[in-house]
Amino acid sequence: MSEPVAKTTPIIVAASEKPTLMPRFDVVVVGSGALGASAAFHLARAGRSVALLDKAEIASQTSPRAAGLSGQLRRNIVMSTLARRSVEKLLAFADETGEPMELYQPGSMNIARTERHRVQLEKAVAWGQSLGFPIEALSPEEACERMPFLRPTGVLSATHLKTDVFLEPAQVPRGYAAAAAKLGAELHPHTRVDGFVAEGAKVRRVLTDRGEFEADAVVDAAGAWARRLAQLAGSEAPMVPMRHQLMVTEPIDGVGNDQPIVRVIDVNVYVRPDRGGLMLGGYERDPRPLDLNQTPVDFRVEDLELDLSVLRRLAATVGDQFPVFVDAPIREHRGGLPTMTIDGEHIVGPAPGLDNLYLLAGCNVGGLSISPALGEEIAAWVVRGAPSFDLSRMSPARFPQGLSASELLAGATERYAHYYSPPPVLPGAY
Ligand SMILES: Cc1cc2nc3c(=O)[nH]c(=O)nc-3n(C[C@H](O)[C@H](O)[C@H](O)COP(=O)(O)OP(=O)(O)OC[C@H]3O[C@@H](n4cnc5c(N)ncnc54)[C@H](O)[C@@H]3O)c2cc1C
Repeated sequence: MSEPVAKTTPIIVAASEKPTLMPRFDVVVVGSGALGASAAFHLARAGRSVALLDKAEIASQTSPRAAGLSGQLRRNIVMSTLARRSVEKLLAFADETGEPMELYQPGSMNIARTERHRVQLEKAVAWGQSLGFPIEALSPEEACERMPFLRPTGVLSATHLKTDVFLEPAQVPRGYAAAAAKLGAELHPHTRVDGFVAEGAKVRRVLTDRGEFEADAVVDAAGAWARRLAQLAGSEAPMVPMRHQLMVTEPIDGVGNDQPIVRVIDVNVYVRPDRGGLMLGGYERDPRPLDLNQTPVDFRVEDLELDLSVLRRLAATVGDQFPVFVDAPIREHRGGLPTMTIDGEHIVGPAPGLDNLYLLAGCNVGGLSISPALGEEIAAWVVRGAPSFDLSRMSPARFPQGLSASELLAGATERYAHYYSPPPVLPGAY
């Protein structure tokens, strides 16, 4: 028998202890990463008074450390719709928010090196075209023409989705937070949420290390800490923070931002141009989950232990396709804590047992790219009582009752380890 999922003791105090004066907002958003900042912007634009709280500096934790890839073709229509709308919103970001956004749109290529993955790509082309994406199949030689650092050795086939984008990731949360502030949202960095006061199924007050906030609604966009926060409110959001890393080489002659993102799908490795060098990141088969209940309360992403040897090993797995990484000097090595769920779907919507605590979490290493559309949807949910289309596959209530800690860990790890090509037994595989 496996252990039940451990729960933090909820810090819920009686509503009668209410002090006389406290700031009141329509919505308190906890977490100023891409997801929380986007939610704050869209809520402020809808005329809501918003406080955006973060225990660290604004937009400083996992989001600015992302790779900044925005792939639009996902394994279901809901995610593909959100990803496509997100790219449209990123392209229109400066007009919509008044904040700068520099992004590149060379598209992304997926590479198959095995027969199983060749078939997966064939299906992806048919699936993508049925959704109206400009995706085409390429021969290995055609793929190498579009990305000059790719070699055809071992490549069976490739695809190119021409409208995918990449960008410097910090622009997204910083831009949304700044735009929210211009619309009147209050930004509260260095403000840690430690608990909630609930009345029945409604959270009324948010307790922080800098005082209390009264709120009609709360958005939990606390990234790696989102589950902990849900548990503080007496709810649950089963997800596992997982270390994820990337490296960037020093500038290399011939690298240009018109060269597409490349994913080698059997080994879960991605490559893209970055400031004149090449970025490589990926998903190792034996990832490192982190139990944040075992870390100090002020643990920050900067405290995460990184390991370049993981990336060197991943680079070796694509040594025939990208020999450039074998001895390239590394300019930057960074990592953060995205969260994985057991089915690879985000966790979005009202927290189980609470009417006005909205979860915006379980990013599955795709939260940055999807944040423009998901922030807009959560704002619609708070303001109008429902998202603009059916997001039930992301429902926080979908998880099996009694999901054990070991089942959660095993499911999340499996998802991470087979990120680009889940084995056929996993739901959501092609
Ligand atoms: C190396 C790497 C590459 C990646 N590449 C991509 C990519 O190409 N595309 C993509 O879409 N995604 C990518 N991701 C994933 C992406 O970074 C995440 O999905 C996204 O950043 C999640 O955003 P967030 O707002 O949920 O989390 P965060 O950015 O971590 O924000 C959460 C915030 O909540 C705050 N917080 C937590 N607890 C509390 C509390 N109690 N009180 C107050 N504040 C609190 C934290 O301080 C933090 O600032 C990558 C991640 C990494 C690490």
